Amino acid sequence: MNTLSEIKALSKPLISNLNKLGINTIQGLLLHLPLRYIDETRITAIRDLRLGDDVQCEGEIVHAEVTYKPRKALIARLQDASGQLTLRFLHFYPSQIAQLAVGKYLRVYGEIRHGFFGYEMVHPQCKNVGESTQVAETLTPIYPTTAGLTQPNIRKAIALALKVADLAETLPLQAYKGMNLPAFKPSIHALHSPAPDANLSALESRSTAEWRRLAFDELLAQQLSMRKHYIKRRSIDAPAIAASHQLAPQLLNNLAFNLTHAQQKVVAEISHDLMQAHPMQRLLQGDVGSGKTIVACMAALQAIEHGWQVALMAPTEILAEQHFKKFETWLKSLNIHIAWNINIALLSGSQSKKEREAALADIASGHAQLAVGTHALFQEAVNFKKLGLAIIDEQHRFGVQQRLALRKKGEPEPHQLMMTATPIPRTLSMSYFADLDVSVIDELPPGRTPIVTKLVSDERRDEILQRVREACMAGSQAYWVCPLIEESEALQLQTANDTFAHMQATFPELKVGLVHGRMKPAEKQAVMQEFSAGEIQLLVATTVIEVGVDVPNASLMIIEHAERMGLSQLHQLRGRVGRGSAKSTCILLYQNKLSEAARARLKVIYENTDGFLIAQADLQLRGPGEFLGTRQSGVPMLKIADLERDADLLEVAKNMADSLIKEYPKAVEAHLARWMSHAGELVKV
Ligand code: ADP
Ligand code: MG
Repeated sequence: MNTLSEIKALSKPLISNLNKLGINTIQGLLLHLPLRYIDETRITAIRDLRLGDDVQCEGEIVHAEVTYKPRKALIARLQDASGQLTLRFLHFYPSQIAQLAVGKYLRVYGEIRHGFFGYEMVHPQCKNVGESTQVAETLTPIYPTTAGLTQPNIRKAIALALKVADLAETLPLQAYKGMNLPAFKPSIHALHSPAPDANLSALESRSTAEWRRLAFDELLAQQLSMRKHYIKRRSIDAPAIAASHQLAPQLLNNLAFNLTHAQQKVVAEISHDLMQAHPMQRLLQGDVGSGKTIVACMAALQAIEHGWQVALMAPTEILAEQHFKKFETWLKSLNIHIAWNINIALLSGSQSKKEREAALADIASGHAQLAVGTHALFQEAVNFKKLGLAIIDEQHRFGVQQRLALRKKGEPEPHQLMMTATPIPRTLSMSYFADLDVSVIDELPPGRTPIVTKLVSDERRDEILQRVREACMAGSQAYWVCPLIEESEALQLQTANDTFAHMQATFPELKVGLVHGRMKPAEKQAVMQEFSAGEIQLLVATTVIEVGVDVPNASLMIIEHAERMGLSQLHQLRGRVGRGSAKSTCILLYQNKLSEAARARLKVIYENTDGFLIAQADLQLRGPGEFLGTRQSGVPMLKIADLERDADLLEVAKNMADSLIKEYPKAVEAHLARWMSHAGELVKV
């Protein structure tokens, strides 16, 4: 790939500034596209100015002064043959005073506003010109930039790059057949320097054919790189594990419920993957409460039955402990019924050194067929005898590196099952997750009464407290979720403690518990244990309970300052209730007055219970970068294409990627080199 230093006319500081923007190659520089454009191709007569327009005027400075009232300002008057216009600067340098001296001839660009003396421009862009200086021949691009890098310098760099760059097509024309898209070279030229009569609003909304052509190329590059990785994985060895004939069927027999159709379907998909001799990388999505744990257990049993070990990793101690207990019950029932001897090791931060060493020894010797734990599982000291399957619960909570580390614990590479309760909208799943196989549990177990969601102003807090009392006195249990205070963990902790004290004082007749992120794991577990057992009626908690906790008897949840929380977070929290057969209620307390964004979020959560709809809305409100969270660190973000706007292009790109890789491998490499050079090493998740 040609680096920027090959363009001799680029100075070192300019190159280093471009590097700061992530631009290291000539191709990368040309794919640094404008954010917007200004029209400097025309000069408007001052008489013809209209309020709100962005325009260019030209004339002579006939008056200039620095005033001090009402505040310091540089004010000048520009005159052309048709009238006068005020130029106002609230911040300025001595050089600008000189530039705006009476008698200077200037070309200015800016927005027309109302001023004290008729129309004015505030902080216009100014250029000293001679009477015959030509106007721009193309629209002027405005690029994303960084401190120290001026627009003229970026423009200069791009103009130089355009002269030397290879703008040939990378893929066979066939790839674009029937799409009505222009070629690469004219598209690049048109976007960096659009003709004066180009449609400015179409350009800025990125809906012109040239933008679409580049968006398509970018989407295609993303598909190609992800699918190449997907295909490559099929050449890596993994244990081919036959279906379970004893353990899984027996567990199904022992369970108090039948799997839903959706669960059966995904169990079959996973089982089929495990039989292959290359590593499974499957993402299991299912809304909160859809029953992913039992699906994970079925997969684990297939591996265990054939002598392979299984690792189950959870993001929090509470959750790891809960999984451990659940698996213990399920697996012990097998030990009893069909005389298997399945052992489970738990690795958690709250263990004593001795317990931990015993667990490590059991994992290393293979005595424990299943290891459950937090991120403690992929630490160096953990050695598996024969790891065949790694299951990661709430995968979005883990970083890319952590998931990779767990995979390295097996030889050959273990199969990997990732689970998430944050549903991934279709367009995201098609793009950023194109390297994974995806299974969806799209049905909740029967007998769940839908959760009623209420939005209540904090002013009615007393009524809510009364409600908590009644619910708990009637034998039910409740969560009280403390506000999220992002700026300060200390403040968050204090709020939790205060709320706890306040609840204890308010409800002397109830046993109130407290759980927050700063507690020792053992303390947390003890509290959760008491809550599970029904000994605690009201649990005051920070958002640590967001993931996975399962206490079916809890049917009331109050979330304070719900307006501060994100949609997915609210959905996850709300999913902690409605897990039993009793009718459940989630009360979202909000503080007046709500911002627009907060109002929009609360409306979505109030109106919807379907996790997929909520996720879709979340994606629209936050954009893919925020939505993807940790996965972002491993996958380059799209810069040009927009998943919503360009959904049709995504569809086409997806459908052709595999066959392009097969039929035109060289062209695919060239395309990836052009588009992925800025992305660095694609982390393989
Ligand atoms: P999640 O998908 O959020 O991890 P869990 O696996 O914790 O959900 O399951 C939620 C609850 O539903 C658990 O108590 C579990 O035992 C129960 N459950 C799972 N599958 C079924 C089913 N098919 N029928 C009835 N209850 C089920
Ligand atoms: Mg779960």
